[in-house]
Amino acid sequence: MQKYKAGIIGATGMVGQRFTTLLAEHPWFEPVVLAASGRSAGKSYSEALAGRWRLPVEMPQKFADMPVYDADADFDKIVSMVDVIFCAVDMPKEEVRALEDRYAAAGVAVMSNNSAHRSTPDVPMIIPEINPDHAVVIETQRKRLGTETGFVAVKSNCSLQSYVPAIHPLKDLGVKRVLACTYQAISGAGKTFESWPEMVDNVIPYIGGEEEKSEKEPMKIWGSLENGIIVPATEPSITAQCLRVPVSNGHMAAVFVELENYKGLDDIKQRWAEFRGFPQEAALPSAPKQFLHYFEEDNRPQTRLDRELEGGMAVSIGRLREDSQYTVKFVCLSHNTLRGAAGGAVLMAETLCAKGYVTHRV
Ligand code: NAP
Repeated sequence: MQKYKAGIIGATGMVGQRFTTLLAEHPWFEPVVLAASGRSAGKSYSEALAGRWRLPVEMPQKFADMPVYDADADFDKIVSMVDVIFCAVDMPKEEVRALEDRYAAAGVAVMSNNSAHRSTPDVPMIIPEINPDHAVVIETQRKRLGTETGFVAVKSNCSLQSYVPAIHPLKDLGVKRVLACTYQAISGAGKTFESWPEMVDNVIPYIGGEEEKSEKEPMKIWGSLENGIIVPATEPSITAQCLRVPVSNGHMAAVFVELENYKGLDDIKQRWAEFRGFPQEAALPSAPKQFLHYFEEDNRPQTRLDRELEGGMAVSIGRLREDSQYTVKFVCLSHNTLRGAAGGAVLMAETLCAKGYVTHRV
């Protein structure tokens, strides 16, 4: 298969570094461009990252000598080299939106980890096992941007990456209310314990904007397609509380769910065991074989033991039991920089390639 030429925008960041490890040997994507801000541009990738490599695995050697481009100043050059870009940048929202639209309008497929476009009605926000059909709004978006090949597709926030997949197979039981408390790793803020020593032996009960995203974004993912755009769902009602905890990687959530037509705990476990989506049916390269894993042990999932399950692309669930105020409660876990960020964006890109939305243009 002819590989798609890929760029990583924000390649020096926490998520960008993950992209390099996931794309280095990818069967469908060939990374040919690394880009970041003017602060890193003009250096080799290893120079730009001197003292800033933040992953527990080594930097893939093939990137060490590659030049880092300026995502803005080198725009024309980058566009001439890529079919698709993976974008994870720390910039003001309106600047991110402008940057992503500019690349898309120039014909490039943009796979975004940023929040700027998550509420744009003609930008699909895709969890590939749940709503790959939302990709059809790309046609509406292309008309708005005046392009035949470009588009922006976004990944949802990492906080909801464990509980939305766990709730999804229960939807036809009538999910009325959800309460989710998340316990989120410091890499979600782009940090390590070295760069954020205040987090050692500490919990911070506030993550800016996270509770709103955790309550609002699932409604778009469960939204319906109407006249070429996504109309957010109105149910279930979700309330969330998000805490930063002293964990390097892996977001845990404690979840309470009210169901209208509850059929027992075994029925819920069976729904999780049998749940498969487009990535499993199409055997996409980054798809976990079993997306939702249920642990019977009372002390699982555990962050350190279970976050890497199926290459960090699966969701671990445990402690399902009945609740005195909601119908059931359980705990779930997903790796925030793998399934919750770079890995989720790569799986979304594979989904959009498999569905014919990504064009070999260079
Ligand atoms: P980060 O580690 O702070 O990295 C930020 C990246 O943005 C760097 O590569 C930086 O380049 C680049 N950048 C900053 N200003 C730029 C500009 N003007 N033009 C081009 N590039 C610029 O951030 P991160 O944790 O990787 O997060 C990046 C994005 O992903 C954010 O939108 C975040 O919300 C989202 N996200 C993160 C996670 C996670 O788990 N960390 C999960 C989901 C989504 P320089 O090195 O040159 O400054």
